[in-house]
Amino acid sequence: MHIVYESDIEFFQKMLLHWYAENGRSFPWRNKSASNYVLIISEVFLQRTKAETVARFLPSFLKKYPSWKQLGEANEEELQEVLRPIGLYKQRGTRLYQLAQELKKKKGRFPKKRNQVEDLAMMGQYITNAFELYVLKKKAPLLDVNMARLLERFFGERKMADIRHDPYLQTLAYRVVDTEKSREINWAILDFGALVCRKIAPKCYICSLSKKCKYYNQNG
Ligand code: SF4
Repeated sequence: MHIVYESDIEFFQKMLLHWYAENGRSFPWRNKSASNYVLIISEVFLQRTKAETVARFLPSFLKKYPSWKQLGEANEEELQEVLRPIGLYKQRGTRLYQLAQELKKKKGRFPKKRNQVEDLAMMGQYITNAFELYVLKKKAPLLDVNMARLLERFFGERKMADIRHDPYLQTLAYRVVDTEKSREINWAILDFGALVCRKIAPKCYICSLSKKCKYYNQNG
């Protein structure tokens, strides 16, 4: 397991927040006025679909289902059809339908405990972290393959295949978002991974992290 020094975490946070202030993307779910419903639903879509596509799709979805209440009244097959344009087919449509049904029974309220939230349909580790970040205002990481890629390139690779169970990556992700600007650093990592530290052909030549980046210093 790699040793990660606090000074490297601080450098990473500082550089990324600075980069985000100038280059961060603007999306509807990042507006200050975005409701918890919009934030959680957007993350459900973002798990499988590019952010730009979700941004184009979201207004029509919210017009049809503006809250958990309306979503709880949705027809399952119709919901599956509505989700088809963003590549969320039958299974995920059904799971979103089930989540809305479970919340309907709870009068639109999420449970208070993490393990109870995680047990709801659709709420795996990633969406539960989003719930903690947005609804409970905790410092939780939106740890998916994109965040994992940037963290591993900069700090060093994980050992386990499944990011949900890798203790090094899990601990690292929580350390990185442990700042007063937890939401912003999460968004900064997503944007930086999409625009600079891309999966294919990362733009190391313009990267403000390169000085301390493990991947760059081993391969650059
Ligand atoms: Fe990614 Fe290259 Fe920057 Fe390292 S130097 S973080 S690999 S873009």
